[in-house]
Amino acid sequence: MTIETMTFAAYIVASLLFILSLAGLSKHESAKSGLTYGMVGMAIALAATITMMVKDLDHLEFAGASFNKWLPIGLLIGAIVIGAAIGFWRAKVVEMTGMPELIALLHSFVGFAAVLIGWNGAITGVHASPGDADYGALVGIHAAEVAIGIFIGAVTLTGSIVANLKLSAKMKSAPLMLPGKNVINVGSLVAFVVLTGVYVARDVKDDTVGYVLLGVITALALFLGWHLVASIGGGDMPVVISMLNSYSGWAAAASGFLLGNDLLIVTGALVGSSGAYLSYIMCKAMNRSFISVIAGGFGIEAPASDDTDYGEHREIQADAAAELLAGAKSVVITPGYGMAVAQAQYPVADLTAKLRAKGIEVRFGIHPVAGRLPGHMNVLLAEAKLPYDIVMELEEINDDFAETDVVLVIGANDTVNPAAAEDPSSPIAGMPVLEVWNAKDVIVFKRSMAAGYAGVQNPLFFRENTQMLFGDAKDRVEDIIAAL
Ligand code: NDP
Repeated sequence: MTIETMTFAAYIVASLLFILSLAGLSKHESAKSGLTYGMVGMAIALAATITMMVKDLDHLEFAGASFNKWLPIGLLIGAIVIGAAIGFWRAKVVEMTGMPELIALLHSFVGFAAVLIGWNGAITGVHASPGDADYGALVGIHAAEVAIGIFIGAVTLTGSIVANLKLSAKMKSAPLMLPGKNVINVGSLVAFVVLTGVYVARDVKDDTVGYVLLGVITALALFLGWHLVASIGGGDMPVVISMLNSYSGWAAAASGFLLGNDLLIVTGALVGSSGAYLSYIMCKAMNRSFISVIAGGFGIEAPASDDTDYGEHREIQADAAAELLAGAKSVVITPGYGMAVAQAQYPVADLTAKLRAKGIEVRFGIHPVAGRLPGHMNVLLAEAKLPYDIVMELEEINDDFAETDVVLVIGANDTVNPAAAEDPSSPIAGMPVLEVWNAKDVIVFKRSMAAGYAGVQNPLFFRENTQMLFGDAKDRVEDIIAAL
């Protein structure tokens, strides 16, 4: 068997393992084995690619001169070792709450790689000679691959950097509202199509024009990526992250075409289509228009400045909260991002066990975008070993709040905001929320009256049946346990 055949077989095995990995990751029970499939697939893919590259080095010349083949091998090993060490270190130290911003940063690397591969493709040119029968067509296809690869890669690069800055609160999460933002987005896309057409049709003999065109396409795409994500408001960021995931897949697939690497095409298409589908599911869950979100908040108006007088809020202390809980028959806990920040899931699990031991029914209501990544709350609650059967999804629990005595809102804000259901002018209008205000008593755990991630004030805090329990969520839950 030749090395080519072995590589081809290894690529098929790796592709199958990636498909199994995605299938495994779609369920709690099989998620761990899904990860293992993915890691084994990636190891096989890397080994096959490196073997292929080392073999090809025997025939490689650069600018007509032969060179020492150990140089590229050394560079490759150096890059793998440094990259793996940084990746391992970051993944080990990252807090669960910092995961989405790390993922956004990793997407930006995929985009950057696609831009570099595109430019490399433009410089090295097509692998065919002018004497070949279909030379003209090959040159055209190659040029289109270069332009499209660079465009998707550059959009992913700057879009992911903005997502990282927004998620890490280094940039305001409110949407950027440049005048004529929709015209800017659509105009950039049209300009890209026209420039690509000119680039494909250009005369390749003197390629100065080609490089200038590619430079303009790169700059345009870098701008568009930045503008698309900057224009999307805090509440829609979950969709943006999975959309960028999808773009990074398409960028990898485009690189696969340029490098003639089938595995990269298959893997890129898997990531691209699964990311797009995840974004679609999230849009449905949040009652958002998929097209409007991916088009940089197309048709979403700037939020009006909020000078509404919501009245006074009421405060409660931990011992009074404990008394209220002790007298309740049914309790629902709705956790959010603040529970993750405070790492309050362990005392929350203790509190649940204590209340259940007193015969009080305790359940959890989980919003699909609570926290900062899909499934964030489920992961935390599973970590604290809470039984799955008391953890309910939004639509399973929403009708039960009217019969609930006490709701504990632990570090959640946007996901329990009545404005989404009641105020059509709210930036989060239409997003389904946990209707906690229908319960008899609501206790909100947070440190201040600050707004949530979407930057919108929450009228829940000023309702008659709501009381605020200020402080770090973990400390306050521990205080309640002590008082009980
Ligand atoms: P929010 O982000 O709306 O609010 C969290 C609240 O927790 C804040 O108001 C904050 O108030 C409080 N908090 C922070 N730290 C602590 C602490 N140590 N102790 C007690 N409270 C604390 O949370 P939700 O989970 O309700 O909503 C998630 C938001 O994030 C949505 O807007 C969603 O669209 C967005 N998002 C979700 C993603 C996902 O995939 N799930 C990804 C990206 C964004 P204070 O500062 O006063 O303490």
